[in-house]
Amino acid sequence: MDLERVKDDITEVVATREQIHNRIVEIAAAISKDYGDRDLLLVGVLKGAVMAMADLARAMQRHVEMDWMAVSSYGSGTKSSGVVRILKDLDRDITDRDVLIVEDIVDSGLTLSWLQTNLLSRGAKSVEIFTVFRKPEAAKVHVDVKYVGFDIPPAFVVGYGLDFSEKYRNLDCVAVLAPKMYS
Ligand code: 5GP
Repeated sequence: MDLERVKDDITEVVATREQIHNRIVEIAAAISKDYGDRDLLLVGVLKGAVMAMADLARAMQRHVEMDWMAVSSYGSGTKSSGVVRILKDLDRDITDRDVLIVEDIVDSGLTLSWLQTNLLSRGAKSVEIFTVFRKPEAAKVHVDVKYVGFDIPPAFVVGYGLDFSEKYRNLDCVAVLAPKMYS
């Protein structure tokens, strides 16, 4: 969906479709270089990371495998607590695998920190993280995000997989949702 369709709902574009595409191509090249000829398993976090996974995987000029997890984090309102429940687990065993978690956005970082620890405890050889967007809060917790697309201000954003009540995921750019939309 184009921005034009929802322009009254948003206040500001954080990243255009083209900016996201160009940045993901750059990151895909960096990842390819870092992993060399080691097998790589991309683990996407549903549902938000669907677009990021599709774009990253296609930008990689090498073989990758893909798997998915769905998690929900318990918290009050919009803040995550770090207590996570697995709604859908990986299909395959990850013992001795190099795993790269693909995430849409890191806010508090609590969910990712839990996920990284969980995957390492299953015997993965390595578990690194790629996120398309990172908010300033993420710097406060200890989660080592190796690949970051964009550092963005601490506003609530939608688009490119990110939703508000399951809407806007199919918006092709990422934009700040107007506060009037919450009420
Ligand atoms: P964390 O544990 O890092 O606080 O939570 C990360 C999750 O919160 C993301 O995967 C995403 O689902 C949700 N989230 C955090 N910030 C935003 C935002 O600005 N917009 C949307 N739509 N979701 C967000």
